[in-house]
Amino acid sequence: MAPRTHIAVLGGGISGLSTAWYLARTAPPNVKITLIEGAKRTGGWLHSDRVADPQHPNGKGSVLLESGPRSLRPQGVSGLNTLEMVRELGLDSKIEPVSKSSPAAMNRYIYSHKTLHKLPSSIMGALTHPLLAAKIPRAGLDLVKGGSGQEDESIQDFVTRRFGKGFSDDLISAMVHGIYAGDVTKLSVRSTFGMLYHMEKDYGSVVLGMLLGGGAVETPWDLTLKEKIIKEMPDLQEFVSKTSIYSFTDGLEELSRSLEKDLVKGGRVDIHKDSIVEKLDANLDSRDVRISIKGQEPVHANTVISALPPLKLQKLLSKPYPELTHNPSVTVAVVNLVYSADQARLASPGFGYLIPRSENSAVNHRGLLGVVFDSCAIPEQDKGESQGKTLKLTAMIGGHMFNEALSQLASGSGSGASTLDLELTGSHKEDVNEFFAKTAMDAVKKHLKIDAAPELVKVHIHHECIPQYLVGHLQRMQTLDQSFRKDFDGLLGVTGAGYLGISVNDCIKNAREVAEAVVSKLEEEDDGEAQLVGRQDAITGLERSWFL
Ligand SMILES: Cc1cc2nc3c(=O)[nH]c(=O)nc-3n(C[C@H](O)[C@H](O)[C@H](O)COP(=O)(O)OP(=O)(O)OC[C@H]3O[C@@H](n4cnc5c(N)ncnc54)[C@H](O)[C@@H]3O)c2cc1C
Repeated sequence: MAPRTHIAVLGGGISGLSTAWYLARTAPPNVKITLIEGAKRTGGWLHSDRVADPQHPNGKGSVLLESGPRSLRPQGVSGLNTLEMVRELGLDSKIEPVSKSSPAAMNRYIYSHKTLHKLPSSIMGALTHPLLAAKIPRAGLDLVKGGSGQEDESIQDFVTRRFGKGFSDDLISAMVHGIYAGDVTKLSVRSTFGMLYHMEKDYGSVVLGMLLGGGAVETPWDLTLKEKIIKEMPDLQEFVSKTSIYSFTDGLEELSRSLEKDLVKGGRVDIHKDSIVEKLDANLDSRDVRISIKGQEPVHANTVISALPPLKLQKLLSKPYPELTHNPSVTVAVVNLVYSADQARLASPGFGYLIPRSENSAVNHRGLLGVVFDSCAIPEQDKGESQGKTLKLTAMIGGHMFNEALSQLASGSGSGASTLDLELTGSHKEDVNEFFAKTAMDAVKKHLKIDAAPELVKVHIHHECIPQYLVGHLQRMQTLDQSFRKDFDGLLGVTGAGYLGISVNDCIKNAREVAEAVVSKLEEEDDGEAQLVGRQDAITGLERSWFL
């Protein structure tokens, strides 16, 4: 029987792979599914490399290096959803959990005023914390201030309005560096810390909201999903209650590799790699989208779900959608450093440290966002003679300060080249890599007092890797939802980190939501054929923007 409906997913990062996977599990058998990825590999930013440990040239040791995401949180509905996927992929036995009682879970630091400060884990700890104690009396105003009635504002404005000056620069900016590599003065509080926004709105106070059990923002679909997973896999809750974060034996890329393997094994999804999509032409009358692919025959589909970054999607469309291009994405340099544990030791074991905005200055390694203590969090990922004998750190540099950081190199080079020239010109690539390696090593020396030279250094520069949800993001997503509904009538939907959540968990859950919604619009006709129903409630993938 020839397929009557063809769904194409664009982009094979974790969002696109997950969308295809959920489609394959739920779409009727006569629906054809194709995944189109521009690169030679799938996984997008998920990238885990196992490399020989130079300390053990006999080949008896190896270390795992992550250049993209490195851990997942099991908490919340999106955490549960990923755990369900992990179980169904048979990846349970590869999970490497970080228990809530381990140093990596209990000790997270902020580098400020030349010292590593452990972040408080209790209210009492916060009240007496050297970075916070002086600010607590002013912060008490949060209890009586009431809401502002604003639709959105920057994280900095929100935190300053509720808790007073300094909180944002000294503390919150560090957390924002850790998650978004972003600027607290520009990012939307509602789209990044929606929980805070809703606590103010619902309880008139963030503290009161916390005390009265206000929590994660969950849509009706989320609540149903949570209930279903807990009912079907009740034991997951025990794992969640004990675990702070987790990864897999061979790193987070095991998840995308397993997804691809499962898609291939299932035989329902055609995977086209090395296929760069160049243009989309939607014909509402024939309900067909022509997908032009560089150097290949075009593909025709009845529904396209784009899991590409929004800026990339805009390039494929003939009409401009300002909501796709409003947010920039920041560039981050990720530097893996491997030391011999005999020569380099952490005085303060933990997950790692973040640097607040107030601490970032030319003298203090401008652009350094933070350093993760990988081998402390999950030593099991290093194998053989390397396990326990290696100190493995990862420095993150740049983000919203990337160009500022590079300008130090530009000013030192005397070439008169602009920052961007330096970044992009091939002949300077080595200079740039060397610059970031040195920035990372100097920071480790200064902040962690580790003087030894690393055995191995790897620099990765990820261009435009983290989307920045600027103030007003949710409202723009609602506008885009309406425009796409009208212009594409269900022929084009979107998902991915550029829209409604950047964490791997969010990407997977949002992929599930759009895939299930598209499938729910497939109507079984009397003859058993599936067909797309049109118009009024066409799926865009942005429906949840109205609930957040
Ligand atoms: C350094 C770093 C660290 C991070 N750490 C964490 C972490 O610890 N935990 C966490 O939860 N999240 C983390 N994140 C966030 C998370 O990894 C990303 O948000 C997520 O991987 C994005 O997935 P995606 O599929 O939406 O997008 P992408 O991974 O960007 O995938 C998009 C895909 O589309 C393809 N593509 C682009 N253009 C075309 C085209 N024209 N035609 C065909 N294909 C195309 C690309 O090749 C790519 O494969 C981190 C991100 C980075 C960059």
